[in-house]
Order: sequence, then C-alpha cells, then structure tokens
Amino acid sequence: LGSSLRGTLDKLRGKSRLSEEDIEEIVKEIQRSLLSADVDVSLVMELSDNIKERALEEEPPAGTPARDFVLRIVYEELVDLIGESTELPLEEQTILLAGLQGSGKTTSSAKMAWWFSTKGLRPAVIQTDTFRPGAYQQAKEMCARAEVDFYGNPDNDDPVEIARNGLEATSEADVHIVDTAGRHALEDDLIDEIEDIEGVVQPDTSLLVLDAAIGQGAKDQAQQFDESIGIDGVVITKLDGTAKGGGALTAVDQTDSSIAFLGTGEEVQDIERFEPDGFISRLLGMGDLSQLAERVERAMEQTEIEEDDWDPEDMLQGQFTLNDMQKQMEAMNNMGPLDQVMDMIPGFGGGIKDQLPDDAMDVTQQRMRTFSVIMDSMTEAEKEYPKAIGASQIERIARGSGTSEEQVRELLQQYKMMEKTIKQFQGMGSDKEMQRMMQQMQ
Ligand code: GDP
Ligand code: MG
Repeated sequence: LGSSLRGTLDKLRGKSRLSEEDIEEIVKEIQRSLLSADVDVSLVMELSDNIKERALEEEPPAGTPARDFVLRIVYEELVDLIGESTELPLEEQTILLAGLQGSGKTTSSAKMAWWFSTKGLRPAVIQTDTFRPGAYQQAKEMCARAEVDFYGNPDNDDPVEIARNGLEATSEADVHIVDTAGRHALEDDLIDEIEDIEGVVQPDTSLLVLDAAIGQGAKDQAQQFDESIGIDGVVITKLDGTAKGGGALTAVDQTDSSIAFLGTGEEVQDIERFEPDGFISRLLGMGDLSQLAERVERAMEQTEIEEDDWDPEDMLQGQFTLNDMQKQMEAMNNMGPLDQVMDMIPGFGGGIKDQLPDDAMDVTQQRMRTFSVIMDSMTEAEKEYPKAIGASQIERIARGSGTSEEQVRELLQQYKMMEKTIKQFQGMGSDKEMQRMMQQMQ
C-alpha cells in the first residue's frame, strides 16, 4: 500500500506540473492507503474530493516540485480532519474512560496515570468495573507497576458507589482517572451504568477508548457514548500491532472531538500523547509528510531555515555527534522512524536503504527514553566527541544517570552504528547523480 503510493510519487518526481491524470493517480493511491488503514469510506471520499479540487486549482510556488506541492495539500487536509491532540491541561482534573470490553480501558487508565506522574502530577486510578471478574486485580497490579494511587473494591458490586468512595479515598491526588466496565456490545445497561457514573464523577474530560483494529463499528460506539456522556477525545490502543487505527477517525469525526493518546504496547509506559504528524505518516505508510509540507511552506514564504531546526539533511554533512543523535531521537518522536524519514529524502528511498543493516535504524521508544536519560549525564565534550569515552567515564555516566554500564555501552554501540550509516550516506554524496539530487533538495 504505502509502497505503491511511494511508487506513484516517485514516478512524478522532477515534474514541475502535474496533469489531471497524475493527480487522479495520486488520489487513488491515497484512497487505497487510507481504506486499508480502516478509514471510513465516506471520509476518504470527502478527503480525496478536497485534495483533487485544491491540487487542480492551486498553483505551486515557483521552484517547488509539483509532487511536493500535492503532498502538502494531502498533509493539510489530513491534519484538518484529524486535528491537534485533545487538550489536557497539566492540573487537577477528572477523566472518565468509556469503551467496549477489551478495547484497552484498564490498561490505558494505568498508562495515562503513569504519563501524568511523569509530568509531576499525582494521579489516581479508580476502578469501577464490577462486571468482569479479575478487573479489580488487573487494574491494581497495573497501577502498582505504574507506581500510582489506586482505588477499587472487589466486595462492592455497585460501580456508582465505588466511584463516589474512590474519589473520596483518593482526594490527595490531582488527577482522577475513572476506569469503567465494558460489555461485548453496546447494551442498555452499559449505557445506563456509565451515565450514572458520569453523574457522580462529573468528569472534566470523557475519553472513548478504541482498539486500533476497529473498523466500521467505531461510528455506532462513538455516537452512543457521545449521546450518553459526551465524548471529548479518543484513545487509540494497540497501535503496536498491524492495525493503523484509521477507524478511530470516524469516531473523531462523529463526536467532533480529537485524539488524546495512543497505546503502543502492554506495559504502562507504552503510551504516547497524540501528534498528528507521526500518526498521518503511519496512516499513509510513508515517510513524514509534515517535513515536506514545511519545506513547501518555506518555499512559499521564502524565509531562511532556522538554525536550531533539526533537519535530516544536515545530518548528511559533517560530523555526526551524540548531540545529533539526541536531536534526531527527539525529532523521531514526532516523525516516526529514521528509515521512514530517509524515504522522503529524494534518492534515499528504496534500494539504498535496503542495503543497510536492519538494526541500524532501530531505536525503540523505550530505548530512546533510556538513552535520553544517559545523555543527560554526559558532558558536552563527551557528546561532541563520543569516541573519547572510556571505561571510567562509562562508570561515571551510568552512576550519574541511574543506569547500568551495559546500557551506556549499548548507547555508544547504537551511536557507532548510526554514525557508520550516516557515513555511508555521505559517501554516496560523492557520486555525481547523488550530488545532483542533494542540490535539488536545497
Ligand atoms: P478493557 O476491557 O477495555 O479494560 O481492556 P484491557 O485494558 O483489559 O485490555 C484488553 C487487552 O488488550 C489486554 O490483554 C491488554 O494487555 C491489551 N492491550 C491494551 N492496550 C494495548 C496496547 O496498546 N497494545 C497491546 N499490544 N495490547 C494492549
Ligand atoms: Mg477493564
């Protein structure tokens, strides 16, 4: 899917003007990508009509490849549909979670509590699921792992009473996250129950939790929960699987809300605050569009690139330091993996990338967090010249960052691998064809 979109786009590289057929073809490939990511048919149609209309009407700025210009339109239309992440102020608040059984509510409640705790707040999870056996124990264990306050009562079978008692018992917490029971399907008793809980809890924000694999079912759920308690945002879980979560967009559209969090695994730390850029890239199965969009924007405004702005192209020139690696890792939080970023740089897609070792580009979120902590304990000189880091420094850095020497070595290993990769790219830059392409990128 993503690759055929990329194929189509590659064919159009270098064209300064696209024909109506070219645009048709791009739009068709985008439709295919979105539909296979479970985005609702009518949403896809609406989106592609807008894209087509704009691509035909608007003029690309001088010197901008037509393909980049169309991609910018695609990006803007998707951002328009998906929106920014649900607003969640870092202050006292109550959040209510709703959703069907198995969607990931309990897991998400502990994850969100963990996330708030990393922001310096004191969260508490209140478990009101009296329907599913084992719900209490599961929530309690996850909250222990997240090291956050927890309230539940396995001997009480009245969820409303549990909610009321829970708020009282955890009054020292700033952020109250109320987990609820689900059902296999939308049933009246489920809706009645959550309405009653909502009445007692008076949440500031009610979030609908949806499995990334949800397809057409998202619409009914969103509508029902929105009517009963009012949905302010959506949490998409299980994005670590193959599903891209496009079905959840229907819920966002239906409830006129936005996406708050993404669940990316079974551990309490496997949660990300939603960012449109990375999500759109994943949805289309291609490299980061926001960068391209920005580049076109820059061409339009004819402004200078800001010095601080990290740009993958900078990496291809000069010395690659640990500071570069850190910046790149931070950027990856928004952009998706480096290999996808590379895909969007003309000349680096496809074959060249495949020659690299698989793990050269593999820095998982978990490792990134550890690496960041380790780098915070390094001196500027060490980051600029990592090759000089010896055993005694490794020991000091590990101690300072509360990690193991093994982990520090792992980071240095990763750095070496990336540096080698970058060198390979730089090496290719000496090639005539490559130089031409590099010039085109500027
Ligand atoms: P609930 O019934 O809505 O409370 O759903 P649970 O929180 O109990 O989650 C149902 C199942 O999905 C559990 O096995 C979770 O471990 C799993 N799960 C939840 N979120 C994620 C996620 O983001 N990734 C993965 N891989 N599994 C998840
Ligand atoms: Mg549950």
